[in-house]
Amino acid sequence: QREIRLPYAGIVVLVGPSNSGKSTMLDRLVAESVIRRTEAVSSDQFRMLVGDDEYVDWKHRPRSEADVIYAEYQQVSAKAFEAMEAMLATRCRLNKLTWVDATHLYPEDRERLIQVARKAHVPVIAVVLDIPEKELLERDAQREYPRGRQRVKQQVQQFKRTLRSIREDGFDASYVLKQPDEITFVRTSNPL
Ligand code: ATP
Repeated sequence: QREIRLPYAGIVVLVGPSNSGKSTMLDRLVAESVIRRTEAVSSDQFRMLVGDDEYVDWKHRPRSEADVIYAEYQQVSAKAFEAMEAMLATRCRLNKLTWVDATHLYPEDRERLIQVARKAHVPVIAVVLDIPEKELLERDAQREYPRGRQRVKQQVQQFKRTLRSIREDGFDASYVLKQPDEITFVRTSNPL
């Protein structure tokens, strides 16, 4: 059984396409009392906090409707990420550990979080969920609101670039997991 030691404070960046099981992993860690619910933030949660629930479901609307509210969604989304970063920065300064649940497929998104951690002098690690495309598509089809084959496939392409470059991102550690269920996360006690 592989074990990953979590830093006492700082940021854990989850990385993976839709359906890779990021939220599922966090639910499991909460159920196992490895983390508390408040130690995880997600882009969906912050979209809801700044823009009510109207924009969370944007991806599930029919194409015609979706196009109309796309610009608004983008605006709310940008503000949601700003608010999430502010919250992360505060938690880092208080020496808290925070997991971030979003796809993080683009280097600039990961870089922003690395900077937040650097400024607060706390570690930042990446936990990458590397699940085969076939499996992602099967899970998507089973979902109440499928993200759509095209979108998942596009994310997988971007994810391949991520896998090639993640080591150069500047994380203090990065872990690529092919079987996330088999990993145990171990917490470090307060060094202070
Ligand atoms: P998104 O970025 O779209 O929010 P995600 O990476 O957070 O996706 P989850 O919400 O955790 O993914 O899971 C997506 C779907 O895949 C859910 O229906 C979930 O039940 C299923 N799923 C997650 N992990 C597994 C697994 N290990 N085996 C089978 N199905 C899984």
